[in-house]
Amino acid sequence: MAHVHLPVVGSVASLGGETAGALPQDPLLDNFSRKIRYLRVSVTDRCNYRCSYCMPEELGDQLVFEPRSAVLSFEELERLIAVFARLGVRKIRLTGGEPTVRKGIVELAQRIAALPGIEQVVMTSNGHLLGELAAPLAAAGVSAINISIDTLDAGKFHALTGRGDLARVLAGVDAAVTAGMRVKLNAVALRGVNDGELVALCEYAWSRGAVPRFIEHMPMSAGAIYEPARGISAHAIRTALEAELGPLPARYWSVSGSVSGQGRASATGREVGIISAMTEHFCDHCNRLRLTATGALHACLGHDDAISLRDVIRGGGSDDDVVRAIAAAVTGKRAGHVFDRSGAGAPQKHMIGIGG
Ligand code: SAM
Ligand code: SF4
Repeated sequence: MAHVHLPVVGSVASLGGETAGALPQDPLLDNFSRKIRYLRVSVTDRCNYRCSYCMPEELGDQLVFEPRSAVLSFEELERLIAVFARLGVRKIRLTGGEPTVRKGIVELAQRIAALPGIEQVVMTSNGHLLGELAAPLAAAGVSAINISIDTLDAGKFHALTGRGDLARVLAGVDAAVTAGMRVKLNAVALRGVNDGELVALCEYAWSRGAVPRFIEHMPMSAGAIYEPARGISAHAIRTALEAELGPLPARYWSVSGSVSGQGRASATGREVGIISAMTEHFCDHCNRLRLTATGALHACLGHDDAISLRDVIRGGGSDDDVVRAIAAAVTGKRAGHVFDRSGAGAPQKHMIGIGG
């Protein structure tokens, strides 16, 4: 494995004197007529797991976390998200790293849910701490959660996640369901790991009233921890599911969490999702931005360019300056990512820094 220094998130620009001047008419409308409504916020770059495709244990000393002083405080997050909400963002996803390891996450969720304009606060989590946290998070306003479970085999799960405990995660799924959250279960589809379990993962999700979703393995971290041979295409996932579940009626399976039609019914009438970011990308419909724990605003998961909102506010900038910085990021949003299955086009940044 190549040297990897986590969790650097690529080159982050600070806006200079150009922050002054008239406010753009619609700061959330990009050059391809895509209107941003959805912000993913990584609340920490730390994680209690070490998934092999994200933040492998073997990195050891190469894992370098951001100092706490570099990470946005609750007040800073609240201020920035309030500006996004004023501009038209309606949905916030709390992610990480692992969002539940951020101290005070329940209070943070509550503060964000209370912001005028915010209609949905949702989360992506590895589920390890949800046994204790699902009910308070739901009470705080987290209405939906994506929980990552790549395999139902406890030994494989532990090996794949470095430190994971499948029983705890399954208890976390039950706690989220009991707390009334809408639950989706994410599995990165990996050859030799869970390719024999795709239907079992669906059956398990459905047994809990959850939606199973399969994610194509993506090359982040400059491709250093990407293993092309392990990736399974959306087409292959669909074919494998159809072989056991019967024909899947929907023509269109390329789904992202925010595009209408979040999944397609199987022959049994139950929903399945495929995040086909690699082979059937959905960039044309992308309505999201991503904010890292250190306040770098990324317009695309697959490109490294970012603008530091933290520098704007810590430099004494006004909310209008924040709006100008957001507009600059939105204007720079590319037509789409350029990943391909060989690993070419991989951004330098790490999934652990940007949050998926
Ligand atoms: N820790 C939380 C979790 O695991 O759900 C949230 C952060 S994690 C980075 C968000 C999602 O990204 C997870 O569903 C994870 O499986 C997925 N992910 C991480 N690395 C990936 C990769 N190289 N390709 C595809 N998905 C990946
Ligand atoms: Fe942690 Fe999630 Fe990355 Fe796994 S995928 S190492 S749980 S951030």
